[in-house]
Amino acid sequence: MTFEMGEETREVQGTWDISTYKYLIDGAGMKLLVDSMKEKKIRGIKCPQCETVYVPGPTFCRKCYIDIDEVVEIGETGVVMSYAVEMADVRGNPLEEFRLTAMIKLDGADTWIIGTISGMDWHDARIGMRVKAFWVDEPVGSLADIDRFEAI
Ligand SMILES: [Zn+2]
Repeated sequence: MTFEMGEETREVQGTWDISTYKYLIDGAGMKLLVDSMKEKKIRGIKCPQCETVYVPGPTFCRKCYIDIDEVVEIGETGVVMSYAVEMADVRGNPLEEFRLTAMIKLDGADTWIIGTISGMDWHDARIGMRVKAFWVDEPVGSLADIDRFEAI
């Protein structure tokens, strides 16, 4: 399968089963994030020394190696830094509809989060595109409280 891509993109074919990976997540910063998502807000932690804003926030600055705890509110709009178009699931079974998954740098944050972009043709997706988060109707305090992102 070959797709037409813009100059800034690279096509990688094959299967990548990410269900075999294990992730280590900073508990306090993740709790801050999911608790705020229950109120349809996104919060991170800012380093007072280098002013880096992390989402989810770690308990120490990755650059300065100092403890940090300044909570800051992050925008629900941001910029697409990278994206992937999925045509099949991790087992290679074709999806009924493509899925556009992106790394998004939210306004006010220096780190990226992952999100699904809906409501557009994947051919029109671009790095640098502005997107906005849309919430589920009744957030429960989970990363899934952001239902999707849409281009703005
Ligand atoms: Zn710092």
